[in-house]
Amino acid sequence: MKPKLRHWQYQAPATRSHSSEIKQRIRQYLKRKVMKSSSPPYQHVCQVGDPGLRSKASPVDPVEICSPQVQKVIRTLIKVMRKLDCNGLSVPQIGVPLQVTALEFTECMLHENPLNAREIKGLAPFPLKIFVNPSVRILDSRTAAFVEGCESISGFSVCVPRYHSVEISGLKERGESVSWQTSGWPACIIQHEMDHLNGVLYIDKMDSNPLNNFGE
Ligand SMILES: [Zn+2]
Repeated sequence: MKPKLRHWQYQAPATRSHSSEIKQRIRQYLKRKVMKSSSPPYQHVCQVGDPGLRSKASPVDPVEICSPQVQKVIRTLIKVMRKLDCNGLSVPQIGVPLQVTALEFTECMLHENPLNAREIKGLAPFPLKIFVNPSVRILDSRTAAFVEGCESISGFSVCVPRYHSVEISGLKERGESVSWQTSGWPACIIQHEMDHLNGVLYIDKMDSNPLNNFGE
């Protein structure tokens, strides 16, 4: 899941050198998004329209968690999430239909948000958390709508109503049991990532009022 950051920037008209720079960026984009389509787990994030994003992920057999294959999937998930500087990412987004998700909110991400946003969203850093076969229990069914982005719907962000407080339970990256109770923004990230494991995208749940939604 992508944190919402808004940038308003003057764009100068394209000059010859600027235009070659644009071509170079397009080549890099194609290399990243299209040409680099090796086998899963991908080093890129699948985009909306990919059928893998609309399927329910399968649970990981607990005896397989420490296998080289599953460990490679988890390592790749973390690597891609950090490369994209996002708060959460799920394994179906890198092309593997398994119930594994990663969450992380660093001190650096916290400081990218203005003070009032930190208060409203209840932002606080938390270390990397991996959940294998997670389930979620709602602790507070009141809802709040935060602006969310998603690496699988690149370039957009919308308001999505989410439950205020939840508990997520599952297994850690080496198979130990884990559960975490949280509220505000982390609860929002958890619900967003759980949706990915069920083939659901935020466009299925977003606030339908266009005045509350906007692109990046
Ligand atoms: Zn997402």
